[in-house]
Amino acid sequence: MSNRTLAILKPDCVEKNLIGQVVQKINEAGFKILAMKMTKLTNDSAGGFYEVHKERPFFNDLMAYMTSGPCVPIALEKENAVADFRKLIGATNPENAEEGTIRKLYAESIERNIVHGSDSDENAAIEISHFFSRKELLENNGF
Ligand code: ADP
Ligand code: MG
Repeated sequence: MSNRTLAILKPDCVEKNLIGQVVQKINEAGFKILAMKMTKLTNDSAGGFYEVHKERPFFNDLMAYMTSGPCVPIALEKENAVADFRKLIGATNPENAEEGTIRKLYAESIERNIVHGSDSDENAAIEISHFFSRKELLENNGF
Protein backbone atom coordinates (compact mmCIF):
# COMPACT_ATOMS: atom_id res chain seq x y z
CA MET A 1 0.00 0.00 0.00
CA SER A 2 1.38 3.38 -0.99
CA ASN A 3 1.17 6.47 1.17
CA ARG A 4 0.97 9.10 -1.56
CA THR A 5 -1.73 10.53 -3.79
CA LEU A 6 -2.15 13.41 -6.22
CA ALA A 7 -4.81 16.05 -5.69
CA ILE A 8 -5.60 18.79 -8.18
CA LEU A 9 -7.61 21.81 -7.13
CA LYS A 10 -9.34 22.24 -10.47
CA PRO A 11 -9.94 25.55 -12.31
CA ASP A 12 -13.41 26.02 -10.73
CA CYS A 13 -11.84 25.74 -7.26
CA VAL A 14 -9.30 28.47 -8.11
CA GLU A 15 -11.92 30.64 -9.85
CA LYS A 16 -14.26 30.49 -6.85
CA ASN A 17 -11.50 31.43 -4.37
CA LEU A 18 -11.88 28.10 -2.59
CA ILE A 19 -8.19 27.11 -2.48
CA GLY A 20 -7.92 28.04 1.21
CA GLN A 21 -11.04 26.17 2.33
CA VAL A 22 -10.14 23.02 0.41
CA VAL A 23 -6.52 22.98 1.60
CA GLN A 24 -7.81 23.38 5.17
CA LYS A 25 -10.06 20.33 4.72
CA ILE A 26 -7.12 18.36 3.34
CA ASN A 27 -4.91 19.32 6.29
CA GLU A 28 -7.65 18.64 8.84
CA ALA A 29 -8.05 15.15 7.38
CA GLY A 30 -4.41 14.44 8.26
CA PHE A 31 -2.69 14.74 4.88
CA LYS A 32 0.79 16.20 4.66
CA ILE A 33 1.55 18.45 1.68
CA LEU A 34 4.72 17.21 -0.04
CA ALA A 35 4.62 19.62 -2.99
CA MET A 36 2.18 22.15 -4.40
CA LYS A 37 2.11 24.61 -7.32
CA MET A 38 -0.26 26.74 -9.39
CA THR A 39 -0.13 26.03 -13.11
CA LYS A 40 -2.29 26.39 -16.21
CA LEU A 41 -2.62 23.13 -18.12
CA THR A 42 -2.11 23.05 -21.86
CA ASN A 43 -4.23 20.80 -24.09
CA ASP A 44 -1.30 18.39 -24.33
CA SER A 45 -0.76 18.28 -20.60
CA ALA A 46 -4.47 17.84 -19.78
CA GLY A 47 -4.84 15.29 -22.60
CA GLY A 48 -1.93 13.27 -21.26
CA PHE A 49 -3.26 13.42 -17.74
CA TYR A 50 -6.76 12.27 -18.76
CA GLU A 51 -5.56 9.89 -21.52
CA VAL A 52 -7.76 7.06 -20.13
CA HIS A 53 -10.89 9.15 -20.82
CA LYS A 54 -10.06 10.12 -24.40
CA GLU A 55 -12.82 7.97 -25.93
CA ARG A 56 -15.45 9.22 -23.49
CA PRO A 57 -18.20 11.57 -24.78
CA PHE A 58 -17.28 14.20 -22.18
CA PHE A 59 -13.56 14.30 -23.10
CA ASN A 60 -13.61 17.54 -25.15
CA ASP A 61 -15.61 19.35 -22.47
CA LEU A 62 -13.23 18.02 -19.83
CA MET A 63 -10.24 19.40 -21.79
CA ALA A 64 -11.92 22.81 -22.16
CA TYR A 65 -12.69 22.89 -18.43
CA MET A 66 -9.28 21.74 -17.24
CA THR A 67 -7.46 24.27 -19.46
CA SER A 68 -9.88 27.15 -18.70
CA GLY A 69 -7.72 28.62 -15.94
CA PRO A 70 -5.00 27.80 -13.47
CA CYS A 71 -5.21 24.73 -11.26
CA VAL A 72 -3.26 23.62 -8.18
CA PRO A 73 -1.70 20.14 -8.22
CA ILE A 74 -0.72 18.92 -4.75
CA ALA A 75 1.32 15.82 -3.85
CA LEU A 76 -0.03 14.43 -0.59
CA GLU A 77 1.15 11.92 1.96
CA LYS A 78 -0.81 9.93 4.52
CA GLU A 79 -1.24 6.29 5.44
CA ASN A 80 -3.75 4.80 2.95
CA ALA A 81 -3.56 8.07 1.00
CA VAL A 82 -5.40 7.08 -2.19
CA ALA A 83 -8.49 5.59 -0.55
CA ASP A 84 -8.65 8.13 2.26
CA PHE A 85 -8.44 11.03 -0.18
CA ARG A 86 -11.17 9.59 -2.42
CA LYS A 87 -13.32 9.32 0.70
CA LEU A 88 -12.59 12.93 1.65
CA ILE A 89 -13.56 14.27 -1.79
CA GLY A 90 -16.67 12.12 -2.33
CA ALA A 91 -18.33 10.75 -5.46
CA THR A 92 -17.55 12.19 -8.92
CA ASN A 93 -21.11 13.53 -9.13
CA PRO A 94 -21.62 15.88 -6.17
CA GLU A 95 -25.29 14.88 -6.05
CA ASN A 96 -24.14 11.41 -5.01
CA ALA A 97 -21.36 12.57 -2.70
CA GLU A 98 -21.66 12.01 1.03
CA GLU A 99 -22.42 14.91 3.36
CA GLY A 100 -19.31 16.72 4.50
CA THR A 101 -17.18 15.66 1.53
CA ILE A 102 -15.37 18.35 -0.46
CA ARG A 103 -17.42 17.74 -3.58
CA LYS A 104 -20.70 17.74 -1.65
CA LEU A 105 -19.73 21.03 -0.02
CA TYR A 106 -18.34 22.90 -3.01
CA ALA A 107 -18.93 21.20 -6.39
CA GLU A 108 -21.60 22.42 -8.80
CA SER A 109 -21.77 19.51 -11.27
CA ILE A 110 -20.34 16.13 -12.27
CA GLU A 111 -17.87 17.99 -14.51
CA ARG A 112 -17.03 21.05 -12.41
CA ASN A 113 -16.35 19.03 -9.29
CA ILE A 114 -13.60 21.11 -7.65
CA VAL A 115 -10.94 18.49 -7.05
CA HIS A 116 -9.12 15.49 -8.53
CA GLY A 117 -7.85 12.51 -6.56
CA SER A 118 -5.80 9.56 -7.89
CA ASP A 119 -7.72 6.28 -8.11
CA SER A 120 -4.90 3.77 -7.44
CA ASP A 121 -1.39 3.63 -6.03
CA GLU A 122 -0.02 3.01 -9.52
CA ASN A 123 -1.81 6.04 -10.97
CA ALA A 124 -0.84 8.17 -7.96
CA ALA A 125 2.84 7.59 -8.74
CA ILE A 126 2.32 8.37 -12.45
CA GLU A 127 0.22 11.47 -11.69
CA ILE A 128 2.63 12.87 -9.09
CA SER A 129 5.46 12.57 -11.61
CA HIS A 130 3.27 14.36 -14.21
CA PHE A 131 3.58 17.53 -12.10
CA PHE A 132 6.55 17.17 -9.76
CA SER A 133 10.13 16.08 -10.34
CA ARG A 134 11.92 13.76 -7.94
CA LYS A 135 14.19 16.70 -7.19
CA GLU A 136 11.26 18.93 -6.15
CA LEU A 137 9.84 16.24 -3.86
CA LEU A 138 13.30 15.64 -2.43
CA GLU A 139 14.09 19.32 -1.85
CA ASN A 140 10.75 19.97 -0.16
CA ASN A 141 10.75 16.93 2.07
CA GLY A 142 14.20 15.47 2.35
CA PHE A 143 13.38 12.16 0.65
P1 ADP B 1 -13.03 11.08 -10.72
O1 ADP B 1 -12.47 12.48 -10.87
O2 ADP B 1 -14.04 11.02 -9.59
O3 ADP B 1 -11.97 10.02 -10.62
P2 ADP B 1 -13.46 10.18 -13.46
O4 ADP B 1 -12.04 9.72 -13.44
O5 ADP B 1 -14.50 9.21 -13.86
O6 ADP B 1 -13.90 10.78 -12.03
O7 ADP B 1 -13.60 11.43 -14.43
C1 ADP B 1 -12.61 12.41 -14.51
C2 ADP B 1 -13.27 13.77 -14.51
O8 ADP B 1 -14.03 13.92 -15.73
C3 ADP B 1 -14.29 14.01 -13.40
O9 ADP B 1 -13.71 14.38 -12.17
C4 ADP B 1 -15.14 15.11 -13.99
O10 ADP B 1 -14.52 16.38 -13.93
C5 ADP B 1 -15.22 14.67 -15.46
N1 ADP B 1 -16.37 13.80 -15.71
C6 ADP B 1 -16.53 12.49 -15.33
N2 ADP B 1 -17.69 11.98 -15.73
C7 ADP B 1 -18.32 12.98 -16.41
C8 ADP B 1 -19.58 13.10 -17.08
N3 ADP B 1 -20.43 12.07 -17.16
N4 ADP B 1 -19.88 14.28 -17.66
C9 ADP B 1 -19.02 15.34 -17.61
N5 ADP B 1 -17.82 15.30 -17.00
C10 ADP B 1 -17.47 14.14 -16.40
MG1 MG C 1 -10.54 9.42 -12.04
